[in-house]
Amino acid sequence: MSSNSDYTLAIEDLTVSFDGFKAVDNLNLYVDKDELRVVIGPNGAGKTTVLDLICGKTKATEGSIKFKNKELTNLSEHQIVHAGVGRKFQTPSIYENLSVYENLEVSYPKGHSVFGSLVFKRTVEVDRRVREIAEEIFLGEFLDMEAALLSHGQKQWLEIGMLLIQEPELLMLDEPVAGMSVKEREQTAELLKKICKGRSVLVIEHDMEFVARIAHKVTVLHQGKILAEGDMQTVQNNPKVIEVYLGH
Ligand code: ADP
Ligand code: MG
Repeated sequence: MSSNSDYTLAIEDLTVSFDGFKAVDNLNLYVDKDELRVVIGPNGAGKTTVLDLICGKTKATEGSIKFKNKELTNLSEHQIVHAGVGRKFQTPSIYENLSVYENLEVSYPKGHSVFGSLVFKRTVEVDRRVREIAEEIFLGEFLDMEAALLSHGQKQWLEIGMLLIQEPELLMLDEPVAGMSVKEREQTAELLKKICKGRSVLVIEHDMEFVARIAHKVTVLHQGKILAEGDMQTVQNNPKVIEVYLGH
């Protein structure tokens, strides 16, 4: 028997009300370790608000959000990041005037004297991680390039890299392939499939071809509630989902 405490993320009875309007309404959502979950649904369904609630940007009106059994609803955004939750917003927030290398370097966790005063050892480790992550996000050849000169898709990857270097156990991405080329979308799918190993990944996305490529399980949100949940095929064939979302 598995219990709710086995999930990386366990959301229960979560509600947020904006002046009486429930953007998220009594939501229950469970995400496993190694799982890549995609949340889909029409505009205004409450998808981004769910991420805002998890990362502490918005405070819940009611309910619970447990991450590795730790209650997040009363923590600050900073404490939630520190607990191991990374979130990528729709527009990339990178340092345009820094190089790819420097963007990754400044994102490396500050650490709490893990290496004591061994500054050299830390520098070697940071350098190793920066290069490793750059390879993973397809920017191994672009380490010295100023971030401003990257393509839109490459900027998105860089931001994913800046989160990965912090080794989050829950990574959340809001519409990561919006504005990407077909090739970049394919590469991003490969990247996400790789990085969900050893952690949980929660993705909001509209591009159904992309969703089909990556999703282990799909949750369909509508008016702040779950309309359907399951594997891609089941969800795609659900008449209610076709009516409110896929049919358009
Ligand atoms: P989605 O990401 O699924 O398109 P959102 O989560 O952005 O939807 O929005 C869900 C609903 O909640 C929308 O009607 C939106 O206008 C409303 N909403 C989101 N954030 C706030 C807020 N801070 N204050 C008031 N209303 C909000
Ligand atoms: Mg949104």
